[in-house]
Amino acid sequence: MIDFVNEGSGDIICDVAAIIVSNRAYLSEIDGKIGDGDHGVNMAKGFGRAAERMEGRDLSLSEAMAELSDVLMSEIGGSMGPLYGMMFANMAESIDGVSEIDARAFADMLRSGVDGVQDIGAASVGDKTMLDSLVPAVEAFARSLDNGGSFSVALSKMENAAVIGRDCTIDMIAKVGRASRLGERSRGVLDAGATSCCLILRALGDGVSKRLS
Ligand code: ADP
Ligand code: MG
Repeated sequence: MIDFVNEGSGDIICDVAAIIVSNRAYLSEIDGKIGDGDHGVNMAKGFGRAAERMEGRDLSLSEAMAELSDVLMSEIGGSMGPLYGMMFANMAESIDGVSEIDARAFADMLRSGVDGVQDIGAASVGDKTMLDSLVPAVEAFARSLDNGGSFSVALSKMENAAVIGRDCTIDMIAKVGRASRLGERSRGVLDAGATSCCLILRALGDGVSKRLS
């Protein structure tokens, strides 16, 4: 198939939430190395609460993303509440009213998500943040489409680029956020936000892939 139906696809976000909740300890452990160790706690709280609210409601993908965004923006502390809150708000808005989501609509949705994060965080690729997984992944998706790749192929390119981008943060020095205070000492470990972003993108990609086959 070349597209999937927005309606009823909110389950994809429930699966994303489950992955984040199950990585709670791991994400906090990573954040503990150069941050304050709360990333997994913040993320699991927000995504877990959103999943509870979505349960049994048969939401569309856009409705589920909007619901998740509301919880993150209003109830989650740390950097990640507003950053992921804006990412999902923009994504939800981008596909709101689109009944069949094709690869182009999905590419636009991803790009809107990046814009949301950059609008409020003002960080760039290379600053050792979630953007180091997100931006290359979104670019890889678009590049694959431009080269004639199918929706499914573009999703797998997106997921691979998210992993590579996450791993590239190991060698980076943090330029923004809490870890930037460490300067050179922030090098040598993964960035927590890039790690959670990679989990999100892979779960999102897998959820969409299943609906395309
Ligand atoms: P806090 O830093 O407030 O403790 P979290 O631990 O939940 O919040 O999140 C930390 C993550 O936030 C970092 O690993 C980084 O990826 C991300 N981050 C911090 N500042 C920014 C920013 N300006 N833009 C994008 N991501 C950011
Ligand atoms: Mg933290």
